[in-house]
Amino acid sequence: MSEFPQPDITEINKPFWDGLNNGELLFQECTNGHRWMPASDFCPHCLSNIFKFKKASGKGKLISWVIYNKAHHPAFEKIIPYNVAIIELEEGPKMVSNVLCEKEKLIPAMKLMLKIEKINGLSLAKFLPL
Ligand SMILES: [Zn+2]
Repeated sequence: MSEFPQPDITEINKPFWDGLNNGELLFQECTNGHRWMPASDFCPHCLSNIFKFKKASGKGKLISWVIYNKAHHPAFEKIIPYNVAIIELEEGPKMVSNVLCEKEKLIPAMKLMLKIEKINGLSLAKFLPL
C-alpha cells in the first residue's frame, strides 16, 4: 500500500495539529472576534495578526459534500467511495473533513460531532452523525 499523504506542518498550523494529538480541535480567533480555519498567520476578515487558538466544542453541521468514487492517490484506493465534506463548526469556522457514515445517510445541515481518529500515526478530525 502506498504511504498515506502527510500534512505540511508549519510554524503557523502546528498548534492545530498539536491540538488534534491532544484530543482537541482548534480554530483561530482574532482580537475583533473573527474566527477561521484553516490556520493562517493573519485574520482573513480584518487582516489582524493578533489572534489566539481556541478549542472547538466539536459540534457542527454538514454544509456540502462530494463523493469520491475514484482514488486520486493510491493510499485512498481501499477506502473509496468516501466523502469529502464542508462542515461548519458551532463556533462558526468551516472546515473540510469526512463524515463517517454511508453516503445515503448524508443530509444537508445534519448535525455532526467531532471524532478524532489516529490514522497512520496522524490525528485527523473526522465527524460522526449525531
Ligand atoms: Zn479579524
